Amino acid sequence: MRKVKMVTPLVEMDGDEMTRILWKMIKDELIIPFVDLKTEYYDLGLKKRDETNDQITIDSAIATKKYGVAVKCATITPNKQRVEEYNLKEMWKSPNGTIRSMLDGTVFRAPIIIDTIKPVVKNWKKPITIARHAYGDVYKDTEFRIEKPGKAELLYTSVDGKTQRQTIYDFECAGVVQGLYNKDSSIESFAHSCFKYALDTKQDLWFSTKDTISKKYDQTFKLKFQEIYDKYYKEKFEKANITYFYTLIDDAVARVIRSEGGYIWALKNYDGDVMSDMVSTAFGSLAMMTSVLVSPDGIYEYEAAHGTVTRHYYKYLKGEETSTNPMATIFAWTGALKKRGELDKIDDLVDFANKLEKACINTLLEGKMTKDLVGLVEDGVKTITLNSLDFIKAIRTNLEKLL
Ligand code: NAP
Ligand code: MG
Repeated sequence: MRKVKMVTPLVEMDGDEMTRILWKMIKDELIIPFVDLKTEYYDLGLKKRDETNDQITIDSAIATKKYGVAVKCATITPNKQRVEEYNLKEMWKSPNGTIRSMLDGTVFRAPIIIDTIKPVVKNWKKPITIARHAYGDVYKDTEFRIEKPGKAELLYTSVDGKTQRQTIYDFECAGVVQGLYNKDSSIESFAHSCFKYALDTKQDLWFSTKDTISKKYDQTFKLKFQEIYDKYYKEKFEKANITYFYTLIDDAVARVIRSEGGYIWALKNYDGDVMSDMVSTAFGSLAMMTSVLVSPDGIYEYEAAHGTVTRHYYKYLKGEETSTNPMATIFAWTGALKKRGELDKIDDLVDFANKLEKACINTLLEGKMTKDLVGLVEDGVKTITLNSLDFIKAIRTNLEKLL
């Protein structure tokens, strides 16, 4: 069979533990036999990051800026225990954090859905994509405890020495205070990424904050989004027949629960953190959550939302059989190949990626799946539990039928 040709390489970021094992299986069974795969390879495995003093992560982000599309395997974010386990020179920063800040991007998470696994919310028929503004707010706050009565104030001194001062609370007792910030530039990048991704995926965009209570802070988010929408995206949205819709977060929550799905829901940092966990749980499984980082200038990095599945990896190392779900990692590959195909106008590549996704879904619909999904399928559906490699091989069989 003739392999699909590529022109521009994908930036390939390899990773750690069980997902690194899956990565190779996916390439060997589902990609390389069918595509004349061109990648620029970066090993973001922890060992290599340590050897290069994390330069490899920076290099991979630079390459992503150059080529425009990357696919990333899950990676370990080191903590104290990992520093000992891998005998690291330093507790290196999260690669996702480094890449995200270099690309100034927003992460969009969406579930892969199939007919035999029904979401907890019965009326959800299409995926709900969550866009989380991953900058500032409570994640970069300053806070302390107040132990006795006294006045807490907010003080700002501008570069030219002018001050602005406001009482937060005149404490008559002990309590707590917290200071938060965000930057216009970051809010604007967030807005551009959201509008771009909505156009790209032809989905409506919803955005919600608590602007009725937070009349300056959250209001800034609301106004920036509206301003950018009116100036750059209104016409394009109308042409694409999609809408931008702002509403108060309370109202959004009620509407989301009653909706069919099929839109992007953009949220501030904390709201996005919480709502993405709620939405992914309600849709079924973390192993079925895809994730893509989109920069305001339209650079894409695709990955799975889950981590390196450490518990399974330790079993694998002991020679035990594992049934780790490769779906989200496969969809990271198809997402990246599809985007590369669109940008380079290679229809065969887009077609291949679509067929690979279809082969995955067909395999699940035949009841063939990994262990994590078995408990989630509808009553009465016959299932066959497979280990990771046999599941990937079953997908390959279905893929060959489609090609
Ligand atoms: P995790 O790797 O997402 O796994 C947590 C649990 O979720 C697993 O033990 C497993 O449950 C289940 N699970 C997740 N993905 C699965 C899959 N594909 N198939 C089947 N089950 C799956 O999270 P973690 O154990 O908290 O973190 C492990 C490492 O990943 C950490 O070092 C962390 O730093 C890193 N991490 C990386 C990323 C990233 O690169 N984007 C994101 C998150 C975490 P059972 O054990 O019950 O089967
Ligand atoms: Mg969370």
